[in-house]
Amino acid sequence: MASTEYERRIAARFSTFDQDGNGYIDREDFNAAAKAVLAAFGKAARSDQGQALYIGAEAFWQGMAGIADRDGDQRITRAEFVNGAVKRLHDNPDRFAEIARPFLHAALAVADTDGDGAATVEETARVLKALGATEEVAAFAAGALDTDTDGRIGETEIVTAFARYFTVPE
Ligand code: CA
Ligand code: CA
Repeated sequence: MASTEYERRIAARFSTFDQDGNGYIDREDFNAAAKAVLAAFGKAARSDQGQALYIGAEAFWQGMAGIADRDGDQRITRAEFVNGAVKRLHDNPDRFAEIARPFLHAALAVADTDGDGAATVEETARVLKALGATEEVAAFAAGALDTDTDGRIGETEIVTAFARYFTVPE
């Protein structure tokens, strides 16, 4: 069967969420993402930043489940993802930004090691790598996030780019 560019993009987005690669998205994937980001920066789950990241991950999961888990079994299958999440988020990118923001805000705080309110391109690449991107893709994507090329990536840039990545499939 011929795979269209659209299908490939959807598959890539699904894999990003399906952190453990077991074929569906559930709470464990969001916990795994939080754990991986904390590990990449040597921060403890019990720290304030660690707790904020786990709380953000849970809110992100709840938001995604509310949008996509049609049968309420606490798992988002690929079909639910395509028919629910992708279509609905495409129609309403602001909604996606809203459910992802607490997680992204907390991840930025973890990555922002000097605490100046923004992550460097290198720090952002470390987050993306922790979430499963290859070294090359992480470096490229982090560079692309720095839209004003000042070498720093703030919350607005991250939330906007994240929403665009997941909500403009065509
Ligand atoms: Ca999974
Ligand atoms: Ca389901």
